[in-house]
Amino acid sequence: DDEDLSVYLNSIDNENRRCLLVVEITDMPGSSFGMNYEELHSKRDGVGANAVTLYVGNQQAEQQRDAMDEDDDTRAEGNVQRDEPGDDGMDSSSYMCDEYAEMPPDVEASQFVEAWEDGLGVTVLQEFPNKKAVQDLVDRAAFENCFGFKIKKSDTVRYVVKCRAESCEWFLRAAKITGSKAFSIRTHNKMHTCSRASQSTSNQKRKGTPRLVASILHEDYPGLMETPAPKSIMNIVRNKLGLRISYSTALRGKNHHVSNLRGNPEDSYKKLYCYLHMLENVNSGTVTSVKLDHEGKFLYLFIALGACIEGFKCMRKVITVDATHLKNGYGGVLVFASAQDPNRHNYPLAFAVLDGEKNDSWTWFFEMLKTVIPDSSELVFMSDRNPSLITAIATVYPIAHHGY
Ligand SMILES: [Zn+2]
Repeated sequence: DDEDLSVYLNSIDNENRRCLLVVEITDMPGSSFGMNYEELHSKRDGVGANAVTLYVGNQQAEQQRDAMDEDDDTRAEGNVQRDEPGDDGMDSSSYMCDEYAEMPPDVEASQFVEAWEDGLGVTVLQEFPNKKAVQDLVDRAAFENCFGFKIKKSDTVRYVVKCRAESCEWFLRAAKITGSKAFSIRTHNKMHTCSRASQSTSNQKRKGTPRLVASILHEDYPGLMETPAPKSIMNIVRNKLGLRISYSTALRGKNHHVSNLRGNPEDSYKKLYCYLHMLENVNSGTVTSVKLDHEGKFLYLFIALGACIEGFKCMRKVITVDATHLKNGYGGVLVFASAQDPNRHNYPLAFAVLDGEKNDSWTWFFEMLKTVIPDSSELVFMSDRNPSLITAIATVYPIAHHGY
């Protein structure tokens, strides 16, 4: 119907063509407009011979619309004969005036490119320890085989990605195995039907991330805390992926690798009570204490091992107190109290994590220390000139001597 066609022509997209149009071909002798039909590759969209592809430029579309408007006025209804589309549908195009005939634009190479493999090397139902392992694998394959991907779903139970090229059929779906942290591959279409060429432009923008660096280090240095210097890591990444990364990315990747092995500080803090419980269980006489603030957040930690307390009896009664700043992102200070053995070697007594070298925290520390080493005139403390520390010792150990 002309009206349908008109609506269709008005809705031409900005690429000047519609890919697919199913029409009933109407034969209009002497009609002033014409167009170029081409049979669609029927396999592409599963539409049969009735489907035709129409390629028109915007300008042509304008002309055709004008022509149709005129036709509407002048044409008597009876003049229109209808042709049933069918196998001979293409023959009908011979009636068409070829005034506006135009070869369809070259079909993008990507539509006919040979499919290629993603290099992921996984099989369906293959299991991974967690979601991150799947993500890392996909990240790596994407870098090494030069394709971009979109994350369609990523949550605690599934990870679904597809190729960034819209028409590409590459697809991977991994899901959590019930009752475990493990993920397994559920669906994997490993063949890309997109063009590698179209992907390569986007890969020039690809960037190395600390996580990518870490995943390379996991592979080359499994289970090892010691990895090469950042400068060498930069070279390793360049040799493996042809990717230039900055010094800081290399350094962060290196640290990422270590924290993946060691676990992150948050998880470590969560295990604190278990750790202290075990410590007291296997070292009799051990004293540990954790102080929380009014919101129940970690404030201070104190540990004195039983064996150390026991051995102090034989040591010189000189206690050195020193502190060093922690660099794990949470700040705070690590405090040591050590004595000296008869050969004047350091002998550890106790250590603590405090929130800073402040009055409250120092006072708490010495109060804890006093539970294992009572105040005595034989005792001598050695420390730096930190005023909070001096005050705290004077308050908690009034009888002991203090040198600074
Ligand atoms: Zn693809």
